[in-house]
Amino acid sequence: MDQLNVPEEIDGSTEEESRSEEKTPVRLLIVDDEEIMREFLNEVLKDEGYVIDLAVSGKDALRQMNASEYDIVLTDVVMPELDGLGVVAATKDLPYDPSVIVMTGYASMETAVESMKLGAADYITKPFNIDQIRIIVRNAVKERVLKERAAEGEFYKELSRKDGLTELYNHRFFHQLLETEVSRGERYDRVVNLLMIDIDDFKSYNDSHGHPAGDIALRRLAQLLKQGSRSCDFVARYGGEEFAIIVPEVSADSARRMAERLLKLIEDAEFEGEDVMLGGRLTISVGIATFPMQASSKSELVEHADQALYRAKGLGKNRVVVFGEERVN
Ligand code: GH3
Ligand code: MG
Ligand code: MG
Repeated sequence: MDQLNVPEEIDGSTEEESRSEEKTPVRLLIVDDEEIMREFLNEVLKDEGYVIDLAVSGKDALRQMNASEYDIVLTDVVMPELDGLGVVAATKDLPYDPSVIVMTGYASMETAVESMKLGAADYITKPFNIDQIRIIVRNAVKERVLKERAAEGEFYKELSRKDGLTELYNHRFFHQLLETEVSRGERYDRVVNLLMIDIDDFKSYNDSHGHPAGDIALRRLAQLLKQGSRSCDFVARYGGEEFAIIVPEVSADSARRMAERLLKLIEDAEFEGEDVMLGGRLTISVGIATFPMQASSKSELVEHADQALYRAKGLGKNRVVVFGEERVN
């Protein structure tokens, strides 16, 4: 995401940071049907480091906003044909989201309120005060920078939690989630089910079709696991061809039924080239353990679900085993 170029006292970043980042200048469109006003505003704002374009009417503004992207649109309210409110409304159809500041006389304060309802970022009242204009535009820029940073922070946070291949939660975040869920379970006396899943004989699929084809199968399987789970379950890629699903808030019995549904979903789904697999289908094995009945801690829960999975493999694969039950599917 590009960083906007903001005056130092607004930006708050150190000189070092500012120099090290490639910043794009703030793009500003001034919209007024009176030439003298356009020139005045241009004069007031040009020393702020903005790249400024001028529009002679609402329609002209629309044309320019569609031709290039602006961060800030400063528009007069009273204009023939398309007025300032029309300009605010029209920004909703743009593929980007400029901040619109409307300029209005004291006599038409209702219009300012109306424009804010329509989504304007701020308003400036006439007669103009030069400092006020500069400050209001700076504030609008600052707000954009803060919003962008927040969105960027969210984006990177989400990225750091996800596995790059499958877009499921990664191993590290899975452990964090499980920690939280087990603590919650302890505190509120709730159960937490853990499903450990491993693809059966995946090595032979890879050996026959190659690693890239194996990756495609992993992605498809990940999607199916997500589709087969509820939105409140946490589906993660535990390791290479191993997955884990945290299933909170339901009984051990429901979790087992869910695992059996997933088993069938995967068995019935078509994977390209799965005919090379033993039995002609790509399948999974699932081990389940439930906190607190079969495990008294997070690490024990993982250990016991893993043991159940190991048992499922030993019993012939393509099956669900609940820890301690060794139930044959
Ligand atoms: P089992 O039924 O006992 O689980 O047999 P398996 O062949 O699945 O188990 P094994 O642990 O012997 O092999 C796992 C295979 O999974 C080997 C490896 O090539 C493959 N694998 C692990 N991670 C990835 C990955 O990220 N991409 C691909 N394509 N394959 C992977
Ligand atoms: Mg494995
Ligand atoms: Mg395997």
